[in-house]
Amino acid sequence: MRVQLLPSSFEENGGASTKQHLTCLIVDDRIAFDAGSLAMASSPVQKRQVRDVVLSHAHLDHIAGLPLFIDDLFSTLTEPIRIHATSEVIEVLENDIFNWSVYPRFSELCNENGPVMSYLPFKLGVEFMVGHLTIRAVTVNHRVPSSGFVVSDGLTAFAMSGDTAAMEDFWRAVNEASILSAVMVECAFPDELRELAAASHHLTPSGLELEIAKCERTECTFYVLNLKPMYREQTIKQIMALNIENLTVLDVGRVYDW
Ligand SMILES: [Zn+2]
Repeated sequence: MRVQLLPSSFEENGGASTKQHLTCLIVDDRIAFDAGSLAMASSPVQKRQVRDVVLSHAHLDHIAGLPLFIDDLFSTLTEPIRIHATSEVIEVLENDIFNWSVYPRFSELCNENGPVMSYLPFKLGVEFMVGHLTIRAVTVNHRVPSSGFVVSDGLTAFAMSGDTAAMEDFWRAVNEASILSAVMVECAFPDELRELAAASHHLTPSGLELEIAKCERTECTFYVLNLKPMYREQTIKQIMALNIENLTVLDVGRVYDW
């Protein structure tokens, strides 16, 4: 399974930045998990193939590229962009984003081939299929309704926390998964900003250490993502100081093969 965290900003020379402002992971160039930079950073192949978008929650850094992605592809789509999300997240998208004021209500629009966008609600704890992937969504601990995911293609699997503070259900799902190669966990802020992290339901390196201790699997590598760009270096230094052998930071833009 190939997994890539798309870039979301630029260096001075115009190349992709290694900092992460937005969240969009693409699996096998076909299925997007969150859509922060989906329109802006996806490759031509990904633009041609991604028709399923699975959303963890409706915060802007996770959905910013979604309206633009559908807009860009509007006239060329031969099937709708399918949004997989909980009913709570779908309600936010319809009320607050695709409401004609912020952006068109694409769920009501068609091109000459048919509808351009559709919603497929999923339920927490119930497995569902998206393309070739089997997905189990679990509750995580953020300020708004949010899901983490365990994702399998039948041969290998990974888990991703999305935005979260301390979790229980997620680790139960990780520990129960029959196969698992990688676990992606957020760590937004350095320890100095633990109050801000607590108020916004995010993790700091100390919290991350407690979370990883809940994992009973020894074969997994832990990848940290969603580090706030302003504190990235400081947070990475503290993550490395935890001295956890199989813990590393997920590189922005790199394609991982698990
Ligand atoms: Zn969030």
